[in-house]
Amino acid sequence: MGSTQPSVWSAIRVTEPAGVNLAGVILDSEVLWFAATNTWIVAPERSGEAVVIDAPPDPGGIGRLLARYDLTPVALLLTHGHIDHMGGAESVRKLGAGVFVHPDDDYLTMDPVAQMRGLFGMVPPGEYLPPTQTIGLRHGMELRLAGVDFEVIHTPGHTPGHCCFLVRSEEWLFSGDQLFAGSIGRTDLPGGSFEQLAESMRDRVMPLADETRVLPGHGPETTIGTERKTNPFRGEWA
Ligand SMILES: [Zn+2]
Ligand SMILES: [Zn+2]
Repeated sequence: MGSTQPSVWSAIRVTEPAGVNLAGVILDSEVLWFAATNTWIVAPERSGEAVVIDAPPDPGGIGRLLARYDLTPVALLLTHGHIDHMGGAESVRKLGAGVFVHPDDDYLTMDPVAQMRGLFGMVPPGEYLPPTQTIGLRHGMELRLAGVDFEVIHTPGHTPGHCCFLVRSEEWLFSGDQLFAGSIGRTDLPGGSFEQLAESMRDRVMPLADETRVLPGHGPETTIGTERKTNPFRGEWA
């Protein structure tokens, strides 16, 4: 789930689709499910292959986002195993995508129903299936997916297996629940560690260039430069 300030990210909606950037690579997102999770797609061109980043438990919403550009998902990158990011993973896998997730989050990824009980004390209506096949992420992995190169940056803290994904050619960082515009991921859920999150930020995220676009799991996008200057938690990783 979200940041240390749920009221901030739940109040903000990404209303404008990011659409097609100047270089021609499609980047777009939808805000899905009641946790208002951003699901992102990256694709070199229309009517081809796509990479999906995070899959909230709303297969219909993910399907509509892909249909907007007539895309077929070949890979699903999960930033972490929380239900609002992985609940739709099996549905995307069934469309033909490989599901990538860090094994340190298997205790979450493989038991979405237990997560729901833990978070809400009940299981809301709907189907919450774990992905039946996954591919393990490791820090430093370089993945060429749908013709786009992604670098895996393991950033434990929000969860032990949390990863960010860097598309160096475009200077895009998919930051999941590690870093938000003006906030950071909460660390009070089971497996969370504020010290680890601060360390991940200092050693692995903040060394990125100021121009890097930060495309988070909740709320609007930001840049590394903006967060370096203004993020209220910046003193923790200075
Ligand atoms: Zn989360
Ligand atoms: Zn979340």
